[in-house]
Amino acid sequence: MKIHEYQAKQIMSEYGVPVPKGRVAATPQEARQIAQELGVPVVIKAQIHAGGRGKGGGIKLADTPAEAEDAASQIIGMRLVTHQTGPEGRIVKRVLVEEQVQAQRELYLGIVIDSGSGRPVVMASEAGGVDIEQVAAASPEKIHKAFVDPFAGFQPYLGRQLAFATGLTGDLLRPAVQLMTALYRAFTAKDASLAEINPLVVTSDNRLLALDAKMNIDDNALFRHSEIVDLRDRDEEDPLELQAQELGIGSYVKLTGNIGCVVNGAGLAMATMDAIKQAGGDPANFLDIGTVNDVSRVVNAFKILTADPSVKAILINIFGGMARVDVIAQGVVDAHKEMKMGVPVVVRLAGTNVAQGERILEDAALPLIRAIGLGEAAQKAVKAAG
Ligand code: GDP
Ligand code: MN
Repeated sequence: MKIHEYQAKQIMSEYGVPVPKGRVAATPQEARQIAQELGVPVVIKAQIHAGGRGKGGGIKLADTPAEAEDAASQIIGMRLVTHQTGPEGRIVKRVLVEEQVQAQRELYLGIVIDSGSGRPVVMASEAGGVDIEQVAAASPEKIHKAFVDPFAGFQPYLGRQLAFATGLTGDLLRPAVQLMTALYRAFTAKDASLAEINPLVVTSDNRLLALDAKMNIDDNALFRHSEIVDLRDRDEEDPLELQAQELGIGSYVKLTGNIGCVVNGAGLAMATMDAIKQAGGDPANFLDIGTVNDVSRVVNAFKILTADPSVKAILINIFGGMARVDVIAQGVVDAHKEMKMGVPVVVRLAGTNVAQGERILEDAALPLIRAIGLGEAAQKAVKAAG
């Protein structure tokens, strides 16, 4: 789950990361009021769940409360397009009004889970700021990494190594190690999958300050973080993914292709997406209905896929283990009764009760494209999608 910058800053500061003074505003008048209270100059920052706001025009400087109001009125309600939002952009509903900071250096600091080592990795770079993606691509040696043993935690020596590597020496060494330790504590305490400060600045009066903040929380840990669930901003989430959650579909992730997939089991869903790619196509989603013997789960999966205008063909790939193929076949039949498909549907069934499942489909005489093997099913789906 993603949260906004102002929320991430709140969390980080609770753990001891220094952040600029500021508050969030939903109207230009509020922004003016906050600027008055904080003292000018201020910076007005669009709050959306995507980076690249600076380059997209979502960040403005203001020297007076009136200018803050004016900047906020330009940003609130705007459709902000950045390299991370896609061409449709995001409508901005709130701005963060913060004291303006004079920076002498912009660094990068981030923590993610490294899947290779299965450990948190703390990354730091002297070349922070709005072009960090280019730095990572063109000169990866400028990004320094410390892999953390999760049982030992973030040891001060790792902090010192990163601090020296990024030029945070002298008077900045101790605050740098403290800041990294604080960020790591926030990362683990909140079950984050990402905690990032870009830029982390050295101010003109030689303090460290998190000028930007980003945190993603592992969805699988939300059950123990009601305080994070409260921060959810549904306007920022994909409407089909939200609907899938409400319908209780195992797991659904929207992708950019045109072949809608209904599969049981995450591994089989991955294999199905690979098979589609290999056949020259592109999956429109990842969808794992899970191991369920529930006709409505299948019907709901069809509801999501038929609501997605980019889906040009649907591929159902089921391998019944604990799940029964006859129940899923009944779901396919019921879905056809309940809604107009509008696109070709390819079905491949195997496993428990497959014979009964086949009979249910034959008796229903639906216009389905049938396949026996997975490769064959993928090829037929790619062909059907055009
Ligand atoms: P992003 O573009 O979405 O990553 O948003 P950031 O919060 O990182 O802001 C982008 C850039 O705006 C930063 O790299 C800074 O150069 C600039 N910026 C943000 N806040 C301030 C501020 O308080 N003072 C000054 N001078 N620049 C700022
Ligand atoms: Mn940033």
